[in-house]
Amino acid sequence: MSTVTSPTVLEATGLEVSFPVVRGGHRTTVRAVRGVDLSIAAGETLGIVGESGSGKSTLARAVMRLIPAEGAVELLGTDVSGLSEREFRAHRRKVQMVFQDPYSSLNPSLTVGQSVAEPLKVHTKMSGPERRSRVEEVLDLVGLRAEFADRYPDEFSGGQRQRIAIARAIILEPEILICDEAVSALDVSTQNQVLSLLESLRERLGLSYLFISHDLAVVRHISDHVAVMYLGEVLEQGPVDRIFERPAHPYTQVLLEAVPEPEPELQRSTTKRVLEGEIPDPTNPPPGCPFQSRCPFAMDVCSEPMPVVEIEGGGISRCHLHTSGPRLGGAPLASLDDAVATQEQQETR
Ligand code: SF4
Repeated sequence: MSTVTSPTVLEATGLEVSFPVVRGGHRTTVRAVRGVDLSIAAGETLGIVGESGSGKSTLARAVMRLIPAEGAVELLGTDVSGLSEREFRAHRRKVQMVFQDPYSSLNPSLTVGQSVAEPLKVHTKMSGPERRSRVEEVLDLVGLRAEFADRYPDEFSGGQRQRIAIARAIILEPEILICDEAVSALDVSTQNQVLSLLESLRERLGLSYLFISHDLAVVRHISDHVAVMYLGEVLEQGPVDRIFERPAHPYTQVLLEAVPEPEPELQRSTTKRVLEGEIPDPTNPPPGCPFQSRCPFAMDVCSEPMPVVEIEGGGISRCHLHTSGPRLGGAPLASLDDAVATQEQQETR
């Protein structure tokens, strides 16, 4: 766990991604990421959670400049958003990505050694023997034997292939790894092994992670801070313990209540609420709070721009309940039950 004095390695401000799409014969625009701010300190893991379609993976690709985006991205203090592709090349090696599917992220016609060495061929002038030596070094770092370099991806299990993908991602000694559902395709015990590997690499190599997952338990396990996304926007951010123990935003609360509690007596709320309905059409999001069509507390003011409210215990929540609802001043609601009870008390006064 890093301290608050750690330097910022990645900072995104006002990140926006839009795609043209055709709906019902008309051209329109999907704003897949809408005004996202985030930052990651050296040695930290920022987890991004949210349902499918919330914009998590698009955000990752925007940070990597794999897709066009507006807004500012600073890597290790350098604003890279205005750089040309050529100028950005020197910075690209600082951020590497591990994708969900180890089966499709490795070229089956290349040996493991060739795949893992590819970034070295692109970004360095290393000789063949130097590349081979570095490949063996990173295979060892991810817990694989040197002779695996001469074999092909289809000779390995899913967990081993993900280790190979991680080896390729760290071979250029990046500062930041973006893991996009990196353990989602693995069974639980392999997931745990790969998570342990990522944690030990973070310590040994001083890495920072942007860790994207729909699996809240996995995010809780590995993250220092968490951002909760919905319809392209971050609705809540904060330290992992505060988010999981005292979520402030109604969407975060419902997301967490949907996770089965292994020890039922520790269940945060006595009345479990289920997230009903689908995320609204991203080509036509509601004005104001994007969650209002599914929120049990939606009020007239929720169609106004969302406030950004600092929450006791760290982080922010973007909900009118903190300023216009039953609790004032940004105090986190203990649970949705608490909010309902407070609302009912106020209505009967
Ligand atoms: Fe619900 Fe309104 Fe808060 Fe959105 S701003 S989560 S609609 S109460």
